Amino acid sequence: ATPSAVLAAIGPAAKQGILIKSGSFLEMCKKITTIVFDKTGTLTSGEMNVTTIIPENGSTQEEVLIIASSAERSSPHPIARAILKEAKRTGIVLSGVGTGRHFPGKGAEDTWNGAPVLVGNRDFFKKNSIPVLESAKQDNIQKNMYETEVLVAKNGEYIGKILISDTLHTDTKKALASLRHLGYSQYAIITGDNKKAAQAIADELEIPESMTYSGLLPSDKEKFVADLQEKGERVCFVGDGTNDGPALIRADIGVGMGSRANTLALESSGVILMEQGLSSLPTFLKLGKKTSQTIK
Ligand code: ADP
Ligand code: MG
Repeated sequence: ATPSAVLAAIGPAAKQGILIKSGSFLEMCKKITTIVFDKTGTLTSGEMNVTTIIPENGSTQEEVLIIASSAERSSPHPIARAILKEAKRTGIVLSGVGTGRHFPGKGAEDTWNGAPVLVGNRDFFKKNSIPVLESAKQDNIQKNMYETEVLVAKNGEYIGKILISDTLHTDTKKALASLRHLGYSQYAIITGDNKKAAQAIADELEIPESMTYSGLLPSDKEKFVADLQEKGERVCFVGDGTNDGPALIRADIGVGMGSRANTLALESSGVILMEQGLSSLPTFLKLGKKTSQTIK
């Protein structure tokens, strides 16, 4: 690669909100065979909203929301932001500062009036040995809704669940059409979210079920990328979250969503898209292809 060809690409890219950390990523663009996407905050807007609160075990909607927002106080996750936004909207004022912890791909915990409180998915409840009511084992998510569901517990006891909606980002479909136009033909979705939520997005984007993987932890996401590479694929992975760090590092090109991503995701990315949405992903890949042509 001539340094001047790389520099000639990196400068204008930066002006379009595409930060390229090394020229080698430009040259990799033409070799990419599979583009893998994180779901929440990458394909979807990640601007989530609480739609339904289902109290159980004798609790009330208000109590479920107070407990959930207390547990989520220190979490940067879009689910946490949705719950805290709903709490604020209904006039709930949380006392004291959060001292809780959050667990990528699982949930968050804190205390409320001295009692341990917790929000997360089924796996997280299992790991914390919190039994879930028979009625809660069935999820309430409607097919084809971009919805996810989290369980809430106080003092080691399940008290209800919260449904949270998401929407496909307005740029996503157009970006995928541009990628197809550029000749990229194989896509996959990997998410920590549940199967129904993943499938609804995959259907909308015409990504086959066989390329849609749900319920993944950060290490599973990394393994997914590594397995593809083992089969000879060159992988571009696009993600936004803490749970995407290892996969972003592993990928041949790790692309971080700059408008949403946390520091870890950004440090792990070779390329950062500063604009919201995926519209500059095809711009970057096209530029990379063009640059490596001039290098030859
Ligand atoms: P994605 O891989 O699509 O970006 P995440 O890995 O961020 O999704 O989250 C996966 C799942 O982990 C969520 O759907 C939720 O069930 C659970 N989860 C992660 N963080 C939290 C949190 N702070 N509060 C509640 N649930 C969480
Ligand atoms: Mg994400």
